[in-house]
Amino acid sequence: MKYSKAFIHTERTINDKLDATSHKLSIQAGLIQQVSAGLYDFLPLGHKVLSKIESVIREELNAIDCQEISMPIVQPKELWEESGRWNVYGKEMLKFKNRDEREFCFGPTHEEVVIDLVRTKITSYKQFPFTLYQIGRKFRDEMRPKNGLLRGKEFMMKDAYSFHTSNEDLDREYNALRTAYFNIFNRLGLKVIGIPADPGEIGGDGSEEVVAFSKFGEDYFIEENGVATKIEENEVEKYSATHEVYRGIEVGHIFKLGTKYSSAMNFNFVNREGKKEPVIMGCYGIGVSRIVNAILEQNNDEKGIKWPVAVAPYTLSIIPLKYQGSEFEAVALELEKAFEKVGVSTLLDDRDMGMGAKIKDSDLIGVPFKIILGKRFSEAKEFELEFRATGEKKVLVYKGEETVKEILAMI
Ligand code: ATP
Ligand code: MG
Repeated sequence: MKYSKAFIHTERTINDKLDATSHKLSIQAGLIQQVSAGLYDFLPLGHKVLSKIESVIREELNAIDCQEISMPIVQPKELWEESGRWNVYGKEMLKFKNRDEREFCFGPTHEEVVIDLVRTKITSYKQFPFTLYQIGRKFRDEMRPKNGLLRGKEFMMKDAYSFHTSNEDLDREYNALRTAYFNIFNRLGLKVIGIPADPGEIGGDGSEEVVAFSKFGEDYFIEENGVATKIEENEVEKYSATHEVYRGIEVGHIFKLGTKYSSAMNFNFVNREGKKEPVIMGCYGIGVSRIVNAILEQNNDEKGIKWPVAVAPYTLSIIPLKYQGSEFEAVALELEKAFEKVGVSTLLDDRDMGMGAKIKDSDLIGVPFKIILGKRFSEAKEFELEFRATGEKKVLVYKGEETVKEILAMI
């Protein structure tokens, strides 16, 4: 992609009212733009990052036979009355009427809808177990949307639901999902910790939150004998005297729901003895858009973002001293083509502006590797390969295809 064609709009200055580093960076690097409180556009760079996060999640879940589906955002009141949550979910649930005066909500979560889907298909114990998931939008009319994607009103979530005929089988799948979660966060370059949690709103028999370390997180916790325990914000001072208090962002949450929803919604199966029993369920969430900020919190410096390669919107920047009609044009194009061909997404900065400004933009938007074609290129075919994560620079001599191979071995 040529920079001049890309819809990338970075900002040199930033609203100093913004709090979290990740929020500042997401605006400054042009990942997102606010439409209204808690509502954001994803611009091309932000959208690419989101898609890469989704791909990692899909790969890990598909690998353990979770199956992807898609459910509507708008949900009918009747289903929420069946589960008994229409009047208890709280003000986060945005309700409205359609032209026929029927009531609906924007789904803050999808237990009701997924049960309604599955109960029409499943009758016998022979049809279990299985796990369904979707990656999609949720709407929660949060009282205080905060820090951009960290707490939005409309946000992206991966939600999975598992269905079982025994608690042992639920435990097995819960553990499989738990392992998949740590694989996902590891691949995304996130440092996280699992915290046994209070099931809260959703209710059930056991749950664990996965929290990414960040000083802007809303969760506080301490660690004792290798076990993390959540504490309240107003307890921080008390615990600080005796413990190190950590802070983090909840990026995932897994629950053993048991039969809470299936009993309420008359969702049963026929067992081996021909008797009806309520289906046993688990549910598993990941805050997909919130993860963008969690990654930003853990990967930045004074120049901007340092994306892990797995989620970078572009992997490589090519920054020539001059472009159009210059001696650099042909070689820059050749490099762009060669890297794109092997799947290294490349941003060729063809803009007619100073080298310093181009390097600043590349570092702000967080491209992991830069090829800098400067003065030494004309003289001795020398150029620099720079590593955004470490700041390391290597001087290389351009030798066509061989050089591409040499760089591929290093990035
Ligand atoms: P929180 O405690 O942060 O309000 P929650 O416990 O209500 O979150 P869950 O119902 O467990 O959230 O949703 C699953 C995941 O969705 C959470 O772990 C979080 O990563 C993400 N999430 C929840 N609410 C929001 C929000 N308002 N904006 C962005 N992500 C969110
Ligand atoms: Mg939660």
